[in-house]
Amino acid sequence: MKIKALGMLSGGLDSTLAAKVLVDLGVEVEGVNFSTGFCVTEHTRNFRDRGTHKDRPSDAFRMAENLGIRMHIIDISKDYLPVVQSPKYGYGANMNPCVDCRIFMFKRMRKLMDEYGAHFMFTGEVLGQRPFSQHKQALKTIETESGLTGLILRPLSAAHLDPTIPEVKGWVDRAKLMAINGRSRKPQEALAKEKGLEEYPQPAGGCCFLADPGYSLRLRDFFTNNGKENLTHEDVILLKVGRHLRLSKYVKIIVGRNERENNFLKYYEKKRHSFSIPSVGSAFVLAEIKGELTPQDSGAIARIAARYSDAPKDQPVAVEHGFEGRSETLQATAYSEDEIKKLRIN
Ligand code: SF4
Repeated sequence: MKIKALGMLSGGLDSTLAAKVLVDLGVEVEGVNFSTGFCVTEHTRNFRDRGTHKDRPSDAFRMAENLGIRMHIIDISKDYLPVVQSPKYGYGANMNPCVDCRIFMFKRMRKLMDEYGAHFMFTGEVLGQRPFSQHKQALKTIETESGLTGLILRPLSAAHLDPTIPEVKGWVDRAKLMAINGRSRKPQEALAKEKGLEEYPQPAGGCCFLADPGYSLRLRDFFTNNGKENLTHEDVILLKVGRHLRLSKYVKIIVGRNERENNFLKYYEKKRHSFSIPSVGSAFVLAEIKGELTPQDSGAIARIAARYSDAPKDQPVAVEHGFEGRSETLQATAYSEDEIKKLRIN
């Protein structure tokens, strides 16, 4: 009987190595990559590389191709928001609800194992690598709550963990599994060399916006001012783009940082106020208003637009304000850098 394992593959080194260890032990491996809506690499591909690398496969697909295994990309973003809004086990160092996130994903894996006829699942998790979600107790909690007790193999750290069903039943040889633990990347790099995996993405600032300090500040600001329960997919996207500033509980401003972000923000103009200075060139500024926009607020936002423009900073400039097809011109002098700093969320 051919034993089949379904693995969570991000395209990073650890999950690729875990898959490679099992492939080399004769296990039939398929990979799953969950798209949560908070994935940094996905955003980079879809947004920054827009139009230039449209057809470039994701890291997960490339690594799966290198290993010669099948890969499934599954969009879980629709159902994922509650995990971020109210995690039972709380957040990590930033707004990353890693324990709840893993439970949510592993429950999905349980269903996919049935669908794809897999005998067990595996991950590239390394014991002790992440203090919040990869210590022994957290790994046990995640297993129990996802209904997968004994069915999650972690090939990179298996020697430090209790034997799993695939090991007890002899589907995989426990003696050939790894004993990596801790935060150093050196053992993985050595194993990659040994396994002939030469090309793999370097960890660069994390894979998840929820673990990013800047994104977390913006998300926290949203929760404080709008309420967790009101987070939508559109908010999740807009929190990834531009500089974010806040005038009050009712007025939040997003400033494009380059042409791509400016163009991107223009897609979201509907129901929002826009400010720009076409005569000299400026950032595209979007304002989200709860209730009516007051003249004081529009004046203040015009000053922000003037700050992020090529206009002279010490004299009034004509700022165009648009909303729902109507427009007006405001005269505004740019805020100073110190004034702007006080308004910035991050
Ligand atoms: S870093 Fe993000 S994707 Fe990874 S477990 Fe934590 S919340 Fe989930």
